[in-house]
Amino acid sequence: MQRFQCYIDGEFLDGEARYRSIDPATGKDWADMPEAREGDVDRAVNAAEKALYEGPWSKLTATQRGKLLYKLADLVAANAQKLAELETRDTGKIIRETSAQIAYVADYYRYYAGIADKIEGSYLPIDKPDMDVWLRREPIGVVAMVVPWNSQLFLSAVKIGPALAAGCTMVVKASEDGPAPLLEFARLVHEAGFPAGVVNIITGFGASCGAALSRHPKIAHVAFTGGPETARHIVRNSAENLASTSLELGGKSPFIVFADADLESAANAQVAGIFAATGQSCVAGSRLIVERSIKDRFLNLLKDKAEAIRVGTPLDMATEVGPLATKRQQDHVAALIHKSVQSGARIVTGGQMPEGEGFYFPPTILDCDGVASPSLAEEFFGPVLSVVAFDTEADALRLANDTRYGLASGVFTQNLTRAHRLMKGIRAGIVWVNTYRAVSPIAPFGGFGLSGHGREGGLAAALDYTRTKTIWLRTSDDPIPDPFVMR
Ligand code: NAD
Repeated sequence: MQRFQCYIDGEFLDGEARYRSIDPATGKDWADMPEAREGDVDRAVNAAEKALYEGPWSKLTATQRGKLLYKLADLVAANAQKLAELETRDTGKIIRETSAQIAYVADYYRYYAGIADKIEGSYLPIDKPDMDVWLRREPIGVVAMVVPWNSQLFLSAVKIGPALAAGCTMVVKASEDGPAPLLEFARLVHEAGFPAGVVNIITGFGASCGAALSRHPKIAHVAFTGGPETARHIVRNSAENLASTSLELGGKSPFIVFADADLESAANAQVAGIFAATGQSCVAGSRLIVERSIKDRFLNLLKDKAEAIRVGTPLDMATEVGPLATKRQQDHVAALIHKSVQSGARIVTGGQMPEGEGFYFPPTILDCDGVASPSLAEEFFGPVLSVVAFDTEADALRLANDTRYGLASGVFTQNLTRAHRLMKGIRAGIVWVNTYRAVSPIAPFGGFGLSGHGREGGLAAALDYTRTKTIWLRTSDDPIPDPFVMR
């Protein structure tokens, strides 16, 4: 059984307790994990605070910080395959995707390496003749980062990269489900030469480790990715330390297909949007909103594609859909399908939990047209597509916005003016037109409504890890006049 450790203050430690991680492809224990509890959290936060204000990190120039980030990026690229295998083993996400995604994670670190010495302050044209006033951008402080099990290296890179560029120090809590790749990544942080305490990486359970971290009095900001219910705990916890928060939550993203769209391309994008990563993607295009005149044709196309998908063992490069990450997730998908069918949804394909080992679930399509199906409102986080039809553009927009979430959306049409109207009308943080599931370190990412707030990616994300300090310098040698009047 493989053994992993936490990384605290530059050292690899066992954690206050241990637990077993399960291989989702077999349902059996495969690794021995550290479980950080309150004492470990406290040690990690104190180390991060010390590194922020006293250690060598606080004395580095921004360019030197950038160089360390470049080194980390190179190490991630060089170890991408190993990290990908660990992620696949521990979460069931297929190797085809983890190997491509982790190679790309290196580019996120490179992007933020380049940004480190471009975070500038400013000089203000102040309205007083004898004053010079500047704004300095300083690191926001010690940051708590809490991530979910899907794409842990990616979801942590969009936090660690900008936070390091800004000069912050941090404690990263990997999910208790599938923490192996992030705990292994700690070895690369160490090898890159970041001073002790700058990046601490732990794992543990939400109610103990996650809660202790997010409410720790020395935490200035909590960067969270996960579900809305956990986000509410995080926000309540942040009432203790009055930390700021950025929340990247789930979605119930609409995928709109007009009759004039390139249907083959739209169908491929829909497959990518809902079946890739076994549907365990926050941006999953899980509500297909299709023009009524092409509904049957498009559904047949999708059904054929869904049934041709190779479901299998995630470490096989030919596999297209692997298992769900946990038994809990598999049961949740089955229960929500059951509830939806009871409310009138019709199974077009899939829908049955398979026999045998592992947490598999087949690609599933539910026709929910004219039905108040719970599958249209609740997130599956699994390979299940819910379909409704529309007659007019106004209907399509109304259906797209009929959700409390607002993370992503897709629009497929050849009509340019219509595409522009929908881009403006859809209430979501991302609109993909004639494409889906595209990301880049250069483009901000984040949601509206229950999908959270704050943006990851892009320059602004690095600025969000800074706080401004206003410096006043009096340039006159005359004595200060009337001390009882504010100047
Ligand atoms: P989750 O919310 O259950 O857990 C996420 C993390 O929060 C884990 O590390 C967990 O240990 C921790 N946690 C749990 N309870 C906590 C508490 N009381 N205090 C502090 N931390 C706590 O999410 P999950 O089930 O692991 O992941 C799936 C969810 O993540 C889905 O809703 C999905 O949409 C969302 N997600 C969002 C994005 C995005 O960028 N918007 C990306 C991926 C996943």
